[in-house]
Amino acid sequence: MSHVPQQAPDGGLRHLLSLDGLPASVLHDLLDRAQVLLPDAHAGTALRGRRAGRTMCTLFFETSTRTRSSFQLAATRLGMDVLNFDVGSSSTRKGESALDTLRTLEAMGVDVFVVRHADDGAVAQLAAGAAPGTHLINAGDGRASHPTQGLLDMLTLRQRKGRDFSRLTVLIAGDLKHSRVARSDLHALRALGCGEIRVCGPANLLPGEEVLRGCRVFGDFDQAIAGVDAAIMLRLQRERMDEGLVPSMEGYYRDFGLSPERLALAAPDALVMHPGPMNRGVEIDGAVADGPQSVVLAQVANGVAVRMAVMDALLAG
Ligand code: ASP
Repeated sequence: MSHVPQQAPDGGLRHLLSLDGLPASVLHDLLDRAQVLLPDAHAGTALRGRRAGRTMCTLFFETSTRTRSSFQLAATRLGMDVLNFDVGSSSTRKGESALDTLRTLEAMGVDVFVVRHADDGAVAQLAAGAAPGTHLINAGDGRASHPTQGLLDMLTLRQRKGRDFSRLTVLIAGDLKHSRVARSDLHALRALGCGEIRVCGPANLLPGEEVLRGCRVFGDFDQAIAGVDAAIMLRLQRERMDEGLVPSMEGYYRDFGLSPERLALAAPDALVMHPGPMNRGVEIDGAVADGPQSVVLAQVANGVAVRMAVMDALLAG
């Protein structure tokens, strides 16, 4: 857990830095809020008065497709002003520290910062230096945490499988070692009381025991996927890997790729999930990604509502 308290003494959220340590009640409240906002999340103008006059700024020190656009749309649909800070063409390149950049933007009246950074813990560190009224949302820090992805994954599961996670067996498969999504999903699944959490991947792509606490660990994908209610597939994060960890993409797909044949071993109504971006033919077959059990695009759609809910909750507190 981060060293900066993300909850105020009354339990209200001040920042969203990690799902680690957040109780089930807080997670369900955020998911309930997202579910309420969902019908209007894609409808344009209905919620434009809700947080009008407040300002959100994206501060991305690492690339993003989904997360950044999703936050932009979420803020716009709540009526907020949106600033996309372009790190690449900014004073960061002249040596300005991330905290000085944040303080400069704070002085312009930004209320909520959505921050992505390549280093574990970097967003919590920035939060520690932020002014009392400023809210930070972690949009992914290194391998550590991606809390809004964790929440949108839980919303997707809850919509299709119900609120009682104790009846579910969920598999997280692939490159868990480098995945902040896996860590946030694990934090949330544990907090929500998931019946059985399975993980599967090549031994050199699994993280340490502390991360996998309480999980059933499999090296054999066919055994891991047998009977599961959902399979969360992860991208091979080659940009975070040392050379040679995965000798061949063909070999990886053969042993750990989600093919139609493997999916047939899961429960008949099992969900196929992936945070994106997908490597088709590496961790997931294109036909499975586009198939009837795939909820990949529903995850993306839920992402907008979840991000609206998080900003709304922070600003309400
Ligand atoms: N988009 C997710 C992340 O930023 C997953 C990935 O990149 O594979 O962590």
